[in-house]
Amino acid sequence: MLDGNLKTPTQFYREILEALQAGGMGLTSDIDGTLSPIAASPSESFVPEGVRTALAKLHASGKLKLVAMISGRSPIDGRRLVGLPQLFYLGNHGMEALEPNRDNPVPAPPVVRYKPLVAAALDFTRHKLLALPADHFGFSGESTTPPGQEAALLFEDKGLTASIHYRLCPNPVLARQAVVSAVQEACTNTGLIISEGRMVVEIRPPVEINKGTALYDLSRQYGLKSLVFLGDDLTDVDAFLALRKLEQEGGGFQKGFAIGVKSPEMNPKVHESADFLVDGVPGVQAFLTWLAEQV
Ligand SMILES: [Mg+2]
Repeated sequence: MLDGNLKTPTQFYREILEALQAGGMGLTSDIDGTLSPIAASPSESFVPEGVRTALAKLHASGKLKLVAMISGRSPIDGRRLVGLPQLFYLGNHGMEALEPNRDNPVPAPPVVRYKPLVAAALDFTRHKLLALPADHFGFSGESTTPPGQEAALLFEDKGLTASIHYRLCPNPVLARQAVVSAVQEACTNTGLIISEGRMVVEIRPPVEINKGTALYDLSRQYGLKSLVFLGDDLTDVDAFLALRKLEQEGGGFQKGFAIGVKSPEMNPKVHESADFLVDGVPGVQAFLTWLAEQV
C-alpha cells in the first residue's frame, strides 16, 4: 500500500498542536473498533477506562469547541457504551442526533418515513436466513440441531437502520454471501440501501446522510476551525473525505485531521484516505491521552 498520503508523526503532532493552540477545534470519533475493541457481538463491547478518562478530560478542559461521537449504533446505545452523557452523540451514521445530557434523540426528518420499511426488511431477512440449511454459514451437517445460525447471526434493530452481524459464523465468507443475498431480496423495490462494514451488513434508508455529511454539517454548525476525526472502517472514509472538503471550501475552516485506526481487517480505503494511522484501540487511547495532556 502507498503511504504518500500519511503525515510523519513529527508533522502530524506539530500540526495538531498548532491547530489546538489556534482555538476552534472539534474532536469527533467513531465508537466500535475505534474507542472500543471489536467484540464477538455489539452488546459485549466496552470502552476502556483510559479512553473514557481522556475524553472526559478533553471535554472538561473547555479547550475544544465540540466533542462528538458518530456511530452506526443508535445514539442512546452509543452513549451507553461510551458512558459520558455530557458529550454530543450522532447515531445511525448521522441520521439521529442526541444533544449533551438530553434523553430524546432527534431523527433527521427525511429518514423517519423509512422506519417501517427497514423493520420489514429486517424481519424478512431474519426469516429467510434462519430457514436456510446451516451449511450456508459453515456449520457441518451433523452438528447443527437446531440450525447453528440461530445463535451465530445477530439481528440488530437500530430504529432508523438495521444490521446483521455474521462474525460468529464458522465460515464468514460463506455467511456473508448468504446474508447479502437475503438482504438484497428483502430490499428489492423498497428503495432501501445496503452497506457493509466489518463482518456486518446494514440496511439503511435511501437518504444522503452518512458520517461525512453529518461531520460536515456539525463543523459548519459549530463554526469549527479545525476538526479531528478517528475511525476504523469503510463508513468512516466518508468522514475523512468530508474533512478534505471542509479544507478546500475554507470559510474559516483550516485543518482536518483524519486518523485511521489499524486493524487486521482494515479496509485499504481507510489507509488511503487517512492523514495518520494509529494502532488499534490502544493507539487511540494513547493519542487521546496525549491530546488531553496538551489542553
Ligand atoms: Mg467502527
